[in-house]
Amino acid sequence: MATLIAAPGIAPDITAAKRLVIKIGSALLVDRARGLRHDWLEALAQDVAEAKARGTDVVIVSSGSIALGRTVLRLPAGELVLEHSQAAAAVGQIRLARAYEEVLAPHGITTGQVLVTLEDTEDRRRYLNSRATLETLLGLGVVPIVNENDTVATDEIRFGDNDRLAAQIAVTVGADQLILLSDVDGFYSANPKQDPAAVRFDVVERITPAIEAMAGDPISGLSKGGMKTKLLAAKTAIAGGCAMAIMEGSPLRPLQALAQGAARTWFVPQADPQQARKRWINAMKPRGELRVDAGAVAALLAGKSLLPAGVRLVSGAFGRGDPVAILGPAGEALGKGLVRYTAAEAQAIAGHKSGEIEAILGYGGRAALIHRDDMVL
Ligand code: GLU
Repeated sequence: MATLIAAPGIAPDITAAKRLVIKIGSALLVDRARGLRHDWLEALAQDVAEAKARGTDVVIVSSGSIALGRTVLRLPAGELVLEHSQAAAAVGQIRLARAYEEVLAPHGITTGQVLVTLEDTEDRRRYLNSRATLETLLGLGVVPIVNENDTVATDEIRFGDNDRLAAQIAVTVGADQLILLSDVDGFYSANPKQDPAAVRFDVVERITPAIEAMAGDPISGLSKGGMKTKLLAAKTAIAGGCAMAIMEGSPLRPLQALAQGAARTWFVPQADPQQARKRWINAMKPRGELRVDAGAVAALLAGKSLLPAGVRLVSGAFGRGDPVAILGPAGEALGKGLVRYTAAEAQAIAGHKSGEIEAILGYGGRAALIHRDDMVL
């Protein structure tokens, strides 16, 4: 076992994070008997304010709507039926979002509520929409408070646990670090509550079958995600170029503790978020082609988005968010990108100025046909 913990990888430094996603579990926020833990949340707001002051973008993925709502509604202990979890989420979420607003506003930080469903990340068009919205919020300096839309999600269409949701959000926004604040201080070779010989990993560089075999079952009553879901989250995060840490979140100021060397496990990616995203786009099979003129080629090479004005020919049957090939004037392959219009729309607006889009289609849309962030050349 000793050889396994000697992972030589370099742990990321949270004070150097560009874009940080923090996942907060229900058990940290909500006390069954007393409700919301205000002191903890206030201290967390200080951590967030410090990160923001360093120039780090922050997204919070917070659980707790169901746990809060069930306390307010005095629902019975134990597993809730779906209808009751949905009702509890409706009652709890509004309080949860308000609590974040109240602790962050004194630091001059604006919060926004973002509720997502599994489909928002699985469907490419909706994925691009939620990505654009989160990007805009972050650009405006807002701290988005994200949760699953539990009120409308049924069991078949649920993430169910916010560990995987947080990883998906981290990849969606191109975060470089994801911190799962949990009730355990890291990833162990066995369940530390059952096996005294279990050892904690400092850094995991690759999720091997041996590592997967070590993930046990859920160990906390309030939260949904056990080590298995945390490992799935880690896989998603590192495939997207985002490092992920699991650490004990219960003491006040967990992020400060992390910066000061608190116990944790880091899962480290091989690539950065941009590289990972480009690889992801590059691996997709194009559903159509856009042939562009020489002016557009020059603009693309200079790092610009592809505007409809530079497009000469549209072929294929693609929908919004689908991958398409970008070809030069002579039909030479230039790159690939996720297109923001359907094939029929692209046909109609090709060769036209972005300002004419609304007049042609009858509705407004994005100025670019392919945004530069969604393109690989
Ligand atoms: N979305 C759920 C809630 O806010 C929590 C899911 C989880 O615990 O991971 O209550």
